[in-house]
Amino acid sequence: MSETPPVKKKTKRIKKLEVMVAETIRETHDTTTLLLFSGNDILDYKPGHFCTIDPHQFDGLERWGRFLEYQKGKKEKPRAYSLASSPHEKYLAVTIKEERYIPGKTKYPPLLSPILVRRIPRGTRMEITGFTGPYYLPDDIESRTDHIVHICAGSGFVPNWSIIKYALHKNLNVRHTLIYGNRSWEDVIYRHALEDLRSEHPDKLKVVHALSREPDAESHGPHVHAGRVNAELINKYVEDPSAAEVFACGPALSKWDKLQAKETGEELTPRFMESVVAAIESVGVPKKRLHLESYG
Ligand SMILES: Cc1cc2nc3c(=O)[nH]c(=O)nc-3n(C[C@H](O)[C@H](O)[C@H](O)COP(=O)(O)OP(=O)(O)OC[C@H]3O[C@@H](n4cnc5c(N)ncnc54)[C@H](O)[C@@H]3O)c2cc1C
Repeated sequence: MSETPPVKKKTKRIKKLEVMVAETIRETHDTTTLLLFSGNDILDYKPGHFCTIDPHQFDGLERWGRFLEYQKGKKEKPRAYSLASSPHEKYLAVTIKEERYIPGKTKYPPLLSPILVRRIPRGTRMEITGFTGPYYLPDDIESRTDHIVHICAGSGFVPNWSIIKYALHKNLNVRHTLIYGNRSWEDVIYRHALEDLRSEHPDKLKVVHALSREPDAESHGPHVHAGRVNAELINKYVEDPSAAEVFACGPALSKWDKLQAKETGEELTPRFMESVVAAIESVGVPKKRLHLESYG
């Protein structure tokens, strides 16, 4: 009698997961991390991947969501959130920055981010769908480079935080330079955890801040600069840009911005991603070494 070969348990990467909020961490005045407990589910994700959260599951958003759907003439879609956790960590985590409504500038008030940031208590159950996305740390990273440069702004640092934590935990043979743009020192997400990780791995992690609206930026440390991320700053900290693998993530012009500009004939001002991609290319990073994710 022939023996039946053992059945390999397949894990599907994209699936719905019931999770419970195990902890909420207020990172900055408008940003919160939710630690999510997923029971015994096998979590198959790569550092950099995102999940989605459907706003329809929250009772408190029912009327508001229906009103926006009526105004927009279409169903509200699930929102994407990068995983802030690394696959080696016990909890899944997402970090959400609250979108603002600016009368005359934004067409509609934001739907989901305000409640995720301010109104989700510990113990809340929710459904997420994951995990996916083209922006992740490749398995063969050590054969591609020994230097990863992370160029991020605001909540755009979330997937890179996962990548950095994972690579350092696995002791991969790569060092990291993070160039992180924010408005002020108080807006820097994971500031203390980032400093702890940097001091644990001084040879492998270098952190550079660019603060566009901080009155006395340089007083916060030797690698804290006033202004925006630009080619000069990249050149100052990245000795051989052509040999580095670059992961850039942050806000970009949205399709709504582009549509509005078309209607009004207004000229669009580039946002973070449009300006840093130009800067990164100008310092000699080949396109094939460039990984991009836009939040718009
Ligand atoms: C791959 C990916 C990963 C992401 N990861 C993160 C993350 O880790 N953390 C994070 O905070 N965010 C992340 N985001 C952004 C996130 O998905 C949401 O876009 C953000 O939270 C805002 O959602 P909201 O429901 O609050 O706002 P929305 O209701 O989506 O509104 C946002 C803006 O869009 C405008 N808008 C919406 N619909 C229309 C319309 N029909 N016509 C004109 N204008 C419109 C609104 O006026 C407003 O200015 C990510 C996005 C992507 C694509």
